[in-house]
This record gives sequence, C-alpha cells and structure tokens, in this order.
Amino acid sequence: MLAITWLGIGSAGAWFVIAAVWLIVMEYVRGRPSTSSRASVILKCVVPLVTIALGLIGVWILGQSGTTNGQTGVATVFIAETHRYRPASLNGNHPALSVKAGRHMIETTSRNELWESNIPKPLFCIAANGKTDYRIVVPSEPTSTERIAAAELAKYLELISGIEFEVVDDASPQTDAEIVLGFGSRTDTLLPGYDYSELGHDGFIIKTIGTKLILAGGKKRGTMYAVYSFLEDYLGCRWWTPQEELVPARQVIEILPIDRKDIPTFISRDTLCISNREGGNNWPIKHKLNGTGTAVTDDQGGKVRIYPGGHSFSALIDPKEHFDQHPEWFAMIDGQRQPYQLCTSNEEVIRKCIETVKRWIVENPDIDIFSVSQDDGPGFCHCPDCMAIYVEEGMLYRPNPMGGQLRLANRIAEAIEEEYPNKLIHMLAYFFTVNPPTKTKPHKNILVRLCDYESCMSHPLVDCAYPVAAENTFPRRFVSLVRRWGELSDRVFVWDYLTNFHNYLQPLPNFHVMQKDVQFFAENHVVGIYMQSVYGAGAKGGFQDMRNYLSAKLMWDPYYDFERSMDEFLAFYYGTSAAPLLKQWIKFMEMHVTENNFHYGMYFTPNGRMFTKEFLDTGESLISQAERLAENETFRQRIHYELLAITYVRLQRMPFDAPNRQERIDAFFKEMESYGVNCLNEGVPLETVRNSMETGQFIDDDPFWKYDP
Ligand SMILES: [Zn+2]
Ligand SMILES: [Zn+2]
Repeated sequence: MLAITWLGIGSAGAWFVIAAVWLIVMEYVRGRPSTSSRASVILKCVVPLVTIALGLIGVWILGQSGTTNGQTGVATVFIAETHRYRPASLNGNHPALSVKAGRHMIETTSRNELWESNIPKPLFCIAANGKTDYRIVVPSEPTSTERIAAAELAKYLELISGIEFEVVDDASPQTDAEIVLGFGSRTDTLLPGYDYSELGHDGFIIKTIGTKLILAGGKKRGTMYAVYSFLEDYLGCRWWTPQEELVPARQVIEILPIDRKDIPTFISRDTLCISNREGGNNWPIKHKLNGTGTAVTDDQGGKVRIYPGGHSFSALIDPKEHFDQHPEWFAMIDGQRQPYQLCTSNEEVIRKCIETVKRWIVENPDIDIFSVSQDDGPGFCHCPDCMAIYVEEGMLYRPNPMGGQLRLANRIAEAIEEEYPNKLIHMLAYFFTVNPPTKTKPHKNILVRLCDYESCMSHPLVDCAYPVAAENTFPRRFVSLVRRWGELSDRVFVWDYLTNFHNYLQPLPNFHVMQKDVQFFAENHVVGIYMQSVYGAGAKGGFQDMRNYLSAKLMWDPYYDFERSMDEFLAFYYGTSAAPLLKQWIKFMEMHVTENNFHYGMYFTPNGRMFTKEFLDTGESLISQAERLAENETFRQRIHYELLAITYVRLQRMPFDAPNRQERIDAFFKEMESYGVNCLNEGVPLETVRNSMETGQFIDDDPFWKYDP
C-alpha cells in the first residue's frame, strides 16, 4: 500500500515538472523575463524535482517488496529468516510455510526470489493477521500425552501468531478447518484402515489431507512428539535449554503439503546431563527423550525403565539374606564361596531368579524391562559346573563367563515369554561378560547392553583403532563387540560417554565424533542409547548446553543436520557475532586431534600431549575475540566460560615459579563461584581440584608441551 502511495506522489511530481517548465518557457516567450521572486522559482522547479525523486524511490521500493498477498488481501512484505534460522521445511525436507516475521535475525527477501524457488503452493492457512478458523481436535477420550499435545500446540500457536486456538473433542461436528491430534474417530474417517500400530509407542505421522492437518502417533508418546516436531521443523521453534527457547512470531501461517512418518531407530533415548535429568519446561519430552535417567512423569508418557537398574545379581538373590543358609548359590572364588555374584549354573539359583523376576513383573506393571546381570566389580563363579559352561562358550578353550550369565538370562526369558510377551530381560555385556558366547544365542526377548569405556573419544569409533583403556583390550574391540552382538541380537543397547569425567571443563574436541558414532550404532542393530555426560548439580563442562542439545537431537534422528543445528545453537546462545569464531575454534580442535592423531579417553589429563602451545594460544585468541564481540552481557559471560576451559589447562600445568601463581588460581576459583560451578571432576569436591593446581599435580617436564608463560 505504501509503495502505491509513493508511486502516486511520483506521478504527480512528473506532472508538476511539466507544468512548471511550461509556465517558465511561456513567460520567456511572452517577453516577460521573470519578475518572479526567488521563492516562486523554488516553488516552480525545486518542489516538483523533489516530488519526482520521491516518486522514483516509491517505484524502487515497489520493485523490492512485492505486491498484494492473494490469501489475505493485505499487502505483505515478505520477511524470511536468515539461513541460520531457516526452518528445515524451507530447505527442502519438509516444505511448509511462508513466514511473516522471526523474532531473531530477520532479513528481507524479495517476493520474486520466493516465486522463483521450488516451494510448493500453500494448501491452506491456519492463521492470518490475528484470525483463524482452525480448531484443534482431540480424541473424545484423550490420553494424558494427547492432552499435553493439545495444550502445548495451543500454547505455542498463540505465542507464534497471537491467536487463541480452541481445543474441541472429535464428538463435535466436523469442519474443514481442523488440526487433528491423535488417532480417534476423525482419523478413522480421514485415514480409513490405517493401522497405526506400526508407529509403536513413539512414532508419528504429520500429514495434510485436504484442508486438514493431522498430527498423530503412538498412544504412549507419539502424538505429543508429532506436535513438538511440527512446531520445531515447520514453524521454527527451538528449545535450546530448559530455560531458553526460540519462538518465531508469525502473522501468517500457511501450510504446504506434508506427508511425513517418523519411527525412531532407538526405542530408548537417554542423555545423562543436567538439562535432561532436571528437565524443566518439558525440555526432555520436547526432545523426545524417554530413557531411564530422563526427568519425565508418567503423565508425560513415562520412560523406558530397567528394573532394578543395571547390575542386579544381589537384587535377584540377596546375599545378606541367603548366604548363610545357601552359600552354594553364590560364586566360588579361590576355592571358597563368597557373598557376592551368583553361581549361575545352580538349578536352585535359576528357579529362585525366575521367581524373583516374575514377582518384579507383577509388582511393577508399568515397567517393561527387567535386569539379570552380574554385580559391579570383579569375581565370577569358578565352580566346576560353571567353568565347564564357560569353556563350552569360549573361543579356543578360553573360558567365557558370559556363557554362564547368558544361559541364566535365557532360562528366565523363556520362563516369562508366554505369560508376559511384552516384557524383556536386560543383560549387561560388561567387564568379564563383554564377549558374546560362541554357542548359545540370546533368546528373542533378551536385551544386551554394551558399555564403551575403552574407546578413544577424539575420533569416530569406525575411524580409530586405538583403545585408550589399553590394559587388556585390542584395537577396535568395541566396534567389533557392537557388530558381533548386533549379529546375535536385534536388541542391543549402548552406554556411551560424552565428557571427560575427571576434567569436565577441559577442552573436549568430540563434536565431530558424536554423529558418526550414533550412526554406527544405528546401523548395527543398536536400539537404545544412554549417553552419560556432565550431570551433577553445579557441574558444568565446556559447550555443555550445546552438547546436551545436540546429543538429544541425535537420539531421535541420527542423520539430522548436525552442522546446521550447531550453527543455530552457537548463534542463539553466544550471539551471531561470536558464533563464527566459536565455530572456528571447534573446527580447529577437530583438525588438531585428527591431523596429529591425538587419542584420549574419558579421563584424559591436562598434561596430555594434545594441549600444545599452538592449541592453547589458538583457543585463547579465538575465544577472546569472540568475547570482545559479544552483543550483550549474557552472551559475554557464556563465551567467557569457554575461555576458562583454556585457563583451566594452563593453571593445572603452571610451574611453581610462574608470576602471581596463587593469585591466578584464586581468581579462577572466584570465577567458578560466580558461575555457580562447584564441581569440575565427577564426585570430587572443587577443593580437590584447587589442591591439584596448587600442588602442581600436572606439571610435567616433557618438552613437547612444556608450559610457556
Ligand atoms: Zn558356579
Ligand atoms: Zn583415536
């Protein structure tokens, strides 16, 4: 509208000029050279020229901006988000909508550019300029998660568009303008004969049919996940941390054709980190986390729980209760029965374990997985019967104690399968039971969990042959274990690690590893992942919130656009000015460990050879530059915490004669206090870390990395 006004002014200006020139020429022709005052000349010449200039600006604006929007009848200047915040939908995967405005980082795009792209024509519009005809329709007897889905959809649609969406149940008369949530009588009509059991507990569909949008999934959690995926992938919402979110404001929400079905690779998705463990603002369900360490309630669909936890022999038969009367039920070690671990070949033990597991199932009807696994620590039964089994199940007569554990677990699995076909028996392949047996295969309702405590963390599993916990292992052992167990069972879970447990804050170059490893698991029959990261209250590692966010994203889709997501997070969380420098630092770390073949595990120390002078100086320079560019104090503080990761390494290696040694250590811990950080080493008080700096625990004379003040 504005552009048309400008054009009008411009045209009028042109007529003014013609008229003014005509009048002046006529005055000369009539031989009456101007007696007009200077003011009159200005009026006749300058005003029309200014007017025509304004007109030309109007024409230029018109060319830049576009014209009337056919949908709403209102002139719309198209504003699209920048590449960083461009919803996945606009990048080709999930075609979605035209965008009126984004809260962050908006830039204008000409209408022509949008016309020339391949975005399909919108099917319908669920919100425009403060109005909607659309209602959210839920099944008449909704589950608790379908209720949450409806409430969250209404809440975010209102935040996005400013419009209140009414929620009705599917007993109400059908209209054309409906967002249908969950499988109920509406989907029976719209998708006749569709068997949604293929979606399991968590899978979902997002689908347009005519002018209706369907967001529906498995009864346990699927519909709720469909809503969050719709908000995230089609409307551009992001949930960075439990406290920080991005909700782009839009006046027009147009829906393009969508036909999407998600069934997750991993049935159990868990990250042991603060965001997931403490939750808040539905962060765990927004990221579709459902593992045992996830802060979700039963109303939110519950979680995949393993009862009574990983290690369970002493819970199956308690040595305190039974050892005195039945020492033969427990492990024989060095010729003596000991009050720990079980004698897995003993028929009474097997009978008692079956009895206990059946009791657990009855007592815990909501739990699907029950553990039959050795207790933590060393020691397995060496009685002649058990030893005979280990030899039968070993390779080249090397006894394999997993044989004993698996045969016990198989007996229990067989005993429950008829009565409880949906229940699973969980078994750790861990420590002395890590190798698959050569003879017996896991029964079909057995779930095997492997634990990767020995692999190098600086390179993807498939690219690195170097085991860092090298005492009794061989190159690529974990890769080989995953493949071998994956061939025996369709139910392999993996416990993986995502931090340095002794030095949370130390730089941890593993962003380039995360996705490749998860993809390797997905391709080798792994169906559950537990990623243990920094989890204690007051504990915080470098780039911690981003690591939590990205690992959660990988759990749902191992093939999602990891790099783009990292760019988005950096830009939002640290600011757009600092983001490229921080990305450069992350990429430098990756190059450094890749090109120089630095390997490290989950306990690597500050005097590791990886921390060269060049490495520390580069980190300091890039992060300091980023800090100087911070757009506000919140961003600056977050960037500064990344700088403290470098300071941490420098201080741990600072020689005793370094200037102001004690003052620098004191200043570091004062900063930790200001960030509310009270833990930098798993389960160890901060004072112990201070002590290691003060006593120079990691000062080393190796000239390769010698500290250089
Ligand atoms: Zn035994
Ligand atoms: Zn390596």
